[in-house]
Amino acid sequence: MEQQNSQAFTLTGGRVIDPANGRDELADVAVEQTGRIAWIKPSGAPPIGEEVPVEGLVVCPGLVDIHVHLREPGFEHKETVATGTRAAVAGGFTTVCCMPNTNPPLDRPQRIAELQQTIAEEAWSNVYVLGAATVGNQRRELTDFDALLEAGCASITDDAAPLQSTSQMQQALAKLAASGRPFLAHLEDEELSGEGVINAGAVSHQLQVPGQSSHSEVAALRRWAQAAASVPQARLHLLHVSTAETVAEAQMLRAGNTFFQLSLETAPHYFCLTEEAILESGADAKVNPPLRTERDRQAILEAVIDGDIQIIATDHAPHTPPEKAQGLIDAPAGLTGLEICVGVVLTHLFHTGRLGLSEILAKMTCNPAVLLGLPAGTLTPGGPADITIIDPYKQWVVDPAHFYSKGRNTPFAGHKLRGRTWGTIKTGQFLVREGELCEDAKLKDRVSTDD
Ligand SMILES: [Zn+2]
Repeated sequence: MEQQNSQAFTLTGGRVIDPANGRDELADVAVEQTGRIAWIKPSGAPPIGEEVPVEGLVVCPGLVDIHVHLREPGFEHKETVATGTRAAVAGGFTTVCCMPNTNPPLDRPQRIAELQQTIAEEAWSNVYVLGAATVGNQRRELTDFDALLEAGCASITDDAAPLQSTSQMQQALAKLAASGRPFLAHLEDEELSGEGVINAGAVSHQLQVPGQSSHSEVAALRRWAQAAASVPQARLHLLHVSTAETVAEAQMLRAGNTFFQLSLETAPHYFCLTEEAILESGADAKVNPPLRTERDRQAILEAVIDGDIQIIATDHAPHTPPEKAQGLIDAPAGLTGLEICVGVVLTHLFHTGRLGLSEILAKMTCNPAVLLGLPAGTLTPGGPADITIIDPYKQWVVDPAHFYSKGRNTPFAGHKLRGRTWGTIKTGQFLVREGELCEDAKLKDRVSTDD
């Protein structure tokens, strides 16, 4: 199949960082024709196949993003499996999880199967589907979690349709507990967030648009914690954490009990930007949860650095330029993120001296993979050669016109970044090389898959 098209090669002279295996050294990585990693040896070993020199570059496991909106089915004008996963591999992600707030929502096995068929035909990266927690994302009735997991869902989430009632949260945690999977929770108390379109504060006041209270997030967390207290083996993962209060509450919950397992995720915009970005980028900086204050940004940054936040995900949420041109109040919330994540994260964490590459990459490889039990996130001989190669010093300027994503909506447009994906290898095949997407590589793959 696809392996027949792969050629053996050896990446030589790179800095190999594999956080899962505690590796950070100059080494060569050999990939055999089968698409698997043959060996990892100190630089200078006799290479197999083509020699691909990667001196000065970082060789790491294919990046994993567990929070991506691919928009298919139903919103193909915003993004598709094909365009979203091209954006993913362009950004260095070989594995993504897609969110279920599609139309129709991904709330039953038949819909999961249909999307998996599209993924098999169209996707450039590995894609795992996350199932919707409620039927039709309506919050009235929980879906059949077991059936969704059996259909292949990586887990269950209420992203974009946040649960509000404590009893429903409790039922959701209980239904999922036996599977060992975490519930992926979008924290939002809608009574507090109300009609708010950006963070409630100086900027919403200045622009005279409705603000969303930042207490909305921690209020939802308190309700979830209450729900989890009565569920043995409950596992809760907090999506896109954005406030200082949420971080503090999570620290307190962790310190105070061990009766449920709690993990935290954030997106790069929450530790790099504040609500001030709205003044410059308008609706292209509108996202939910909204960009917050400098105090919140600092708290999220510290939590990423000290490990209270274990996972960085993009919450890639593309919309079309006309949709985003409707103004702050009417434009949909969401930012694209896949193609800039490596640059943004390295610029703000590594080049500022705040966090080492291995610690950064753990949050984008093994940590998310382990959370959802995905077969990804490490460089292991005998395992699939899903590899990302990063030029950590490459300087570039974000130009959304060059995105592979259909979305152009990012407040990072025009930002100067340092660090960029140089290569993306999936199952031993270069999909990105020297920063360019390998269009024909995918075509060969397609032909062999059709056989
Ligand atoms: Zn969300």
